[in-house]
Amino acid sequence: MSGTELSDDQLLRYSRHILLNEIGVEGQQRIRAARMLVIGAGGLGSPAAFYLASAGVAAIVLVDGDAVDLTNLQRQILHTTERIGVSKALSGQHTLRAINPEVDVIPMARRVEAPDLDELVQQATIVLDCSDNFATRQAINRACVKYLKPLVSGAAIRFDGQIAVFDLRNSGSPCYACLFPPDPASDAGVDELCSTMGVFAPLTGIIGTMQAAEALKLASSVGESLQGQLLMLDALTMRWHSVRVSRDPGCPVCAKPSSA
Ligand SMILES: [Zn+2]
Repeated sequence: MSGTELSDDQLLRYSRHILLNEIGVEGQQRIRAARMLVIGAGGLGSPAAFYLASAGVAAIVLVDGDAVDLTNLQRQILHTTERIGVSKALSGQHTLRAINPEVDVIPMARRVEAPDLDELVQQATIVLDCSDNFATRQAINRACVKYLKPLVSGAAIRFDGQIAVFDLRNSGSPCYACLFPPDPASDAGVDELCSTMGVFAPLTGIIGTMQAAEALKLASSVGESLQGQLLMLDALTMRWHSVRVSRDPGCPVCAKPSSA
């Protein structure tokens, strides 16, 4: 694996990963080569990006069109009180650079839509959906299906969290829309829902951290991903439930051959 040879400093920085038989030097080199697209620098994207940066991925493209608000700081741990009003993408870049200056953090301080999203997904090794609305989730899924990119999807509201991996590189894998079919009627108002319903702060940490874990496993080809399962957490009882997710042969997104 030339091109991602690890320096002496890197062998130290990543030594606790390298010590793991399952990861080792080769796995760490694969992590070093991975370009992660993190959409949303909020409650889920914060912990996810923290661990991707500390673990030494090549690049993190951090997409968020919002600015840091006082109400974000209860859970969005990339950001600080003094950065209220600053773009979340830039605030996140600031934090991630301090953790690991080797990681190329590319902030995109805007909401990305169709053509830009396609390009970003195409360039990514793995996509992490840390967004907070249904329309964005559907758009991300469409691009991941189109370019056969693994998608690590997380969600958290109130005390309920969920995580799933959709990896269309494997034939027979479902996509996000197989599980949650696009429904224009439910697209509206989800953002407002999140701000009125509340969310338990550490729940976003649990789910976002698991998204990083799944992304790093996929990047290093270690273990088994959550592909084909939806894992749900009730944080009130701290009980997990797992549901198998099948490909929907009538899915409007993945059943058709790639639609441009
Ligand atoms: Zn599908």
